[in-house]
Amino acid sequence: MAGIYIHIPFCKQACSYCDFHFSTQLKNKSELISSILIEAELRSNYLNEKVESIYFGGGTPSLLKANEINEIFNQLHKFYQVDSDIEITLEANPDDLSPAYLAELKKTPINRLSIGVQSFDQEDLQFMNRAHSASEAKSSIINAQDNGFENLSIDLIFGSPTSNFKKWEENLKTFFSLNISHLSAYSLTVEDGTKLAHDIGKGKVKKLEDNLALAQYKQLQNAIKDNGFEQYEVSNYCRNEMYAKHNSSYWKSTPYLGIGPSAHSFDGNSRQWNIRNNAIYIKNMNSNLPYFEVEELSEENRYHELLITALRTKWGISLPIFKETFSTSIVEHFFNRLKKVENRVFLDENIAKVKAEYLFESDYIVRELML
Ligand code: SF4
Repeated sequence: MAGIYIHIPFCKQACSYCDFHFSTQLKNKSELISSILIEAELRSNYLNEKVESIYFGGGTPSLLKANEINEIFNQLHKFYQVDSDIEITLEANPDDLSPAYLAELKKTPINRLSIGVQSFDQEDLQFMNRAHSASEAKSSIINAQDNGFENLSIDLIFGSPTSNFKKWEENLKTFFSLNISHLSAYSLTVEDGTKLAHDIGKGKVKKLEDNLALAQYKQLQNAIKDNGFEQYEVSNYCRNEMYAKHNSSYWKSTPYLGIGPSAHSFDGNSRQWNIRNNAIYIKNMNSNLPYFEVEELSEENRYHELLITALRTKWGISLPIFKETFSTSIVEHFFNRLKKVENRVFLDENIAKVKAEYLFESDYIVRELML
């Protein structure tokens, strides 16, 4: 099984912390969609398996009209084998999810929404320069449910300097009151080149406190358990096994094809990444010029990728497959290094996985196991 990711590189405004690829200039949106259609056809031999998830990410895919989404689907159906039980996710921002837009979305095959709420607190949202208000954050979820979207995920961010114990508790209470089956919760991080990094550098904003982020992560772990949710990845939680199929495929190293500027692809042996510039992507796609770079993965790369992806999840590393796939020296290295972190890792003959209470330290554990 495989997945397709479509990158929609447009946003209404720049959030202060974001380093994804997007443009706030929407004037070449239709040329970009035409280029995505061209790429979908050009890449039709990349996946040799049925597609079981399609993910519209960005940027802000909810800036697409329903007919634009359908145009992309028609193209995908023409060139790819699509599973009947497919998960099709659209990332959406709360300010776009009006009842009228949701009614239009219902006319597309989208069957899951991942809503970029980030916080239900107005001060947090203003600090992050989000385009929506706290009341839109809540009403967008209710609108989606009223329009028949049952499979919902939301994103929340913790560790903001505008947050505290009480506010985070309120955010989590609001989340659990809204009958949503999936949550992605991330710590606010400072990425180079963002407004947040610039403002911290200039002393306009105080540095983020690691202690606050860690305390709020622990607060989240407790709230999750109290509310019948399961943590299945460092930043992802669900109930009733409503795991995100698409993102889980990244962590399980199944092949995926990324279409659109800056999108990445993986076929098991190599990684590809598309040009991270809308105008050049459009020009190259329409002139038969190269639009991506490729890296063949060495055994060392594949080992490191396995650690980085699989050890983030509750599924961990399948040891029989690991031993079959990697050379003796890498397998020996893995088991030797495992001794250094053995109190943090669950191990039997079939699986090695980070214990739930240590998932937040998975980066450290991965570093210890690397070559
Ligand atoms: S809406 Fe999403 S992609 Fe766009 S700037 Fe904000 S965080 Fe980044």
